Amino acid sequence: MPNRKHEAKCRQCGRCCLGKIPFWDKDQHRFRVVVGGTACQFLDPGTRKCKVYENRQFRRPGCLTIPQAKAQMILPADCPYVADDPDYECIVEDYPDGPDGQQSDDV
Ligand code: SF4
Ligand code: SF4
Repeated sequence: MPNRKHEAKCRQCGRCCLGKIPFWDKDQHRFRVVVGGTACQFLDPGTRKCKVYENRQFRRPGCLTIPQAKAQMILPADCPYVADDPDYECIVEDYPDGPDGQQSDDV
């Protein structure tokens, strides 16, 4: 059962559901991730909410939990789940700014 108090922290900006493309940066000798490609098919572009939230892990098996997304360092740095963690580093370099940032055109 979802933890409602925990879930209430989400601002529903939808940024963590945008498409992401990882690649090896040979100049920096590390993996980088950029926003691109197609957003999750279940992300509503108008409301920025998940259209299948209650069944998201069944409908989209690759949908990450918050701990998984945090471990993969793909939550935006100002996401409430990581914003107070001084050790957290987001490796996605071109997220739209802020919780009300514009979504990419392909959402
Ligand atoms: S980035 Fe954070 S605040 Fe935005 S939808 Fe994802 S979990 Fe919620
Ligand atoms: S299924 Fe997962 S990745 Fe897709 S919109 Fe819903 S929460 Fe985001």
